[in-house]
Amino acid sequence: MSDVTVTLHAKGQKAVARRHPWVFSGAVDRVDGSPADGDIVTVRGVDGTFLGRGYWNSQSSIRIRLLSWDESETIDEAFWPRKLERAIEARRVDNRIYKHGTPNAYRLVNAENDGIPGLVVDRYGDWLVLQALTKGIDTRKAMLAELLMKQFNAGGVYERSDVDIRQKEGLTDETGVLVGKEPPEFVEIDENGRRFLVDVKRGHKTGFYLDQRENRAVVGDWFRWDDQADERVVLNAFAYTGGFAVYALGSLVKRVINVDSSADALNVARRNVALNGFDVRDEDFVEGDVFEVLRYYRDSAQQFDMIILDPPKFAHSAKQVEQAARGYKDINLMAFRLLKPGGVLVTFSCSGAIRTDLFQKIVFAALADAKRDAQIVRHLEQAGDHPIALTFPEGEYLKGLLCRVW
Ligand code: SAH
Repeated sequence: MSDVTVTLHAKGQKAVARRHPWVFSGAVDRVDGSPADGDIVTVRGVDGTFLGRGYWNSQSSIRIRLLSWDESETIDEAFWPRKLERAIEARRVDNRIYKHGTPNAYRLVNAENDGIPGLVVDRYGDWLVLQALTKGIDTRKAMLAELLMKQFNAGGVYERSDVDIRQKEGLTDETGVLVGKEPPEFVEIDENGRRFLVDVKRGHKTGFYLDQRENRAVVGDWFRWDDQADERVVLNAFAYTGGFAVYALGSLVKRVINVDSSADALNVARRNVALNGFDVRDEDFVEGDVFEVLRYYRDSAQQFDMIILDPPKFAHSAKQVEQAARGYKDINLMAFRLLKPGGVLVTFSCSGAIRTDLFQKIVFAALADAKRDAQIVRHLEQAGDHPIALTFPEGEYLKGLLCRVW
């Protein structure tokens, strides 16, 4: 272990004292020693008080990610299994965090929010998928994969560190088997009794949008007790592999139109619809740009009973908020216009930089322009296996509204 001490400016200390896990370069006053990127350093205040321990990266503006605020806790061999076990244990007691019974696919480690900055691990049946988002995790990923394999009894741990934010850490993309066997082309998962094929090697993120599990269940329940369910028409915009569609079809809705720009995603969506025993109709899988498809529906005067808008992240940083807000407003405005009276808009933003109150304001602005009335029936959020550390508000990113529109 390195014995490097990093002393912070008085101003830089405050957040650390409150256990925020990030130390930005501007907060650093002095470095005694020359840590290699990824090494453990001890963080102290100007007067020498112990503040915490974390891993160092000279290439990132987040210079240190803190792992511990307890002076007696060293970051040794026992530290990592202890932290992993805490994350695994927190997901073991099912109905507290899985509102609808235990799925066999969920997030096992949610980075900073589980006390292991930079490490994401998702479970898909027997397979674990690991993302190393930082240098400190990248240098330890083989060890972490071995531990996971042992502690979790997995078939294999597959790496999907193909994410843009690694560039900010001086890292390039890396994917492949870390330990154990290679996952098959598709891993079949069970989510609330629905079956999905997940391409963990090539799919988005680690293969599936696990964070939407509870919101998919909300959609699945919406028409369940509706005696006209079979006449309802749902538009599933940004459909990916048909997650929301499978749930909506399960509530006896016959028509769910899926729109996505990715032909590969739609092909898996077709397979997922079939896997759950529903008819696959070609006209219900539309490859295209949602912005254009919504305009097309407006021009052809089509109306829907429910529209789901689950776009990709429009704002990747605070700088992009304004432009992203225009994008969100645009699609929500068009969706409001396309809903029948009494219809439902289920609208999301997964941009962390767009806070929940701002998102609501954007949706309100869209409603005002559409000259409709609407009420919020539910506020939606990321699933419970994607917890948010109270010390780390950045951990909250997915927000949604379910609105009834008149
Ligand atoms: N609702 C999905 C996840 C959606 S992820 C689920 O529950 O699984 C966002 C999707 O939007 C991706 O599949 C991506 O291919 C698609 N996408 C991104 N930009 C798009 C655009 N302009 N038009 C249509 N689809 C788009």
